[in-house]
Amino acid sequence: MARRNRIELIAFDGDDTLWHNERSFRAGRLRFQRLLDDAGVRLTEEEIDAAVNEVEIANIEYYGYGVSSFVLSLMEAAIDLTAGRVTGAQLAGLIELSKQMLTEEIELFPGARAAVTALAASHPLMLITKGDLLHQTSKLERSGLREDFRFVEVVSHKTAAVYSTILARHRVDADRFLLIGNSLKSDVIPVAQAGRWAVHVPAALSWSHEHADMPTDVRHRIFELTALDRLPEVIETIERGQRTVKSPSRRLPSRRAAAVSGRRRPGEGSR
Ligand SMILES: [Mg+2]
Repeated sequence: MARRNRIELIAFDGDDTLWHNERSFRAGRLRFQRLLDDAGVRLTEEEIDAAVNEVEIANIEYYGYGVSSFVLSLMEAAIDLTAGRVTGAQLAGLIELSKQMLTEEIELFPGARAAVTALAASHPLMLITKGDLLHQTSKLERSGLREDFRFVEVVSHKTAAVYSTILARHRVDADRFLLIGNSLKSDVIPVAQAGRWAVHVPAALSWSHEHADMPTDVRHRIFELTALDRLPEVIETIERGQRTVKSPSRRLPSRRAAAVSGRRRPGEGSR
């Protein structure tokens, strides 16, 4: 088979692309709501979300992304929302929460293992993830997928410049690079801007901070899938230089996937 557009490096995002992540943060927010309840602060889920989001986003420049940043933000929000009445025992509960989140079992999405294993046989794979170095590398080890990835990059932010730097360091031409991710803002759009091919696999749960609108100038470099099992087919299509992938996976800007199965459904982003 002629491969006009050979892909030399395939990268995956980890959180909410290969394994569940956001649901753990949702559970953490529910626990935070109970803490506030115990402290006599009655707020709706929406009010708590808004307060926590504000602190979290303001703290990204200090702590970056990840569980440690999240829990420090919860502690700060707890102090603010209780006007300093939060107790040491309640703060200890949040510290305990962070340790649970950092060590909880990794659950892969359906099809993740098969897709990674299949692609590792034909292409070098790289994991590109943002967050705490120790936690992200630990999750990869515990996922059982470590052996399939030749390279691992844990970054503080995922911007077009960061992706360009990674490609330059590994001496991969932009046209020969493809990334699969769940976040339009962190994975798909900056890769399409910096490199070439991006596959968007939306996750059911997403953090509002990661929302982004699809810019029209890079749509032609982006494929959309509802699950990981059709990845090898998409990559073969790209390498053959074909213009389209058979339904239900499709290349934007054709209509967005309507049929959704499994535990994934459209929605942008994750932490
Ligand atoms: Mg992600």
